[in-house]
Amino acid sequence: MKIEIDNNSGFCFGVVNAIQLAEKELKKNHILYCLGDIVHNSAEVDRLKSKGLITINLEQFKNLKNCKVLLRAHGEPPETYEIAKKNNIQLIDASCPVVLKLQNNIKQGFDVFLKKGGQVVIYGKEGHAEVNGLVGQTKGKAIIIGGMEDLDKIDFSKPVNLFSQTTKNIEDFNKIQKEIKKRMIATQGTKEIDFITNDTICKQVSHRQPQLREFVKNHDVVIFVSGKKSSNGRMLFQVCQAENPNTFFVSEQSELKKAWFNKAKSVGVCGATSTPRWLMENVASEIKKITNP
Ligand code: SF4
Repeated sequence: MKIEIDNNSGFCFGVVNAIQLAEKELKKNHILYCLGDIVHNSAEVDRLKSKGLITINLEQFKNLKNCKVLLRAHGEPPETYEIAKKNNIQLIDASCPVVLKLQNNIKQGFDVFLKKGGQVVIYGKEGHAEVNGLVGQTKGKAIIIGGMEDLDKIDFSKPVNLFSQTTKNIEDFNKIQKEIKKRMIATQGTKEIDFITNDTICKQVSHRQPQLREFVKNHDVVIFVSGKKSSNGRMLFQVCQAENPNTFFVSEQSELKKAWFNKAKSVGVCGATSTPRWLMENVASEIKKITNP
């Protein structure tokens, strides 16, 4: 049986950068706080924890003083920087440049749309760290929509400036923008609507969708490796499963089931932008072991 690990899967540059910054600091000081999980993969979080990385939540962050804290790739709202300044916390800012650019665009878009009574709409997951950082650019006023079911939160009689969380599915984003446009035209009774749509999905994510479709087509069975908390992982898993129904989701090698590989001649192992290469390699070795006892 052939087992292949997808070369296009694994950490995106934003996550690689955050982990490199953490490891560099841990080599010097052996202890570093990180606001939230550095990556949505508990195996990688545990690996860094063993080196001294301490994951803290916002409440714990507010109570820290005179120390160093790493900000992960998801980015943070302005409030986080204010707290750090007040409490003399030195930030190691690993916010991804793609997210920072999006934050800046949202801030500018919000200022313009506020003046004309419009709305900034973010297609994303409510409560997700990146989305919190984006909404923070609008003083909490942006409207978050998680899917079609949330569209009624928008006032279609007013201008709309639409953005997306970087890890969303491009096809779903396109459906959402078409529906908003349709409803705005219907409500306003004209095609001359004030609607700006910004495809702000990270190319590291959107390019993976066609690459993954190609990869999973070439295998009888596909094992998708990702942390359960990763929204990018959930989205890419669905892309793989739609293309190859014999796709199974695991977070680590112990979740593999021998029965999945009955009659399989080739197995593909792939993952999300938050899946470490070493974890996919462990999964591939375990598949070899359980299928050739
Ligand atoms: S998915 Fe894209 S935006 Fe998000 S951290 Fe990775 S490189 Fe940055």
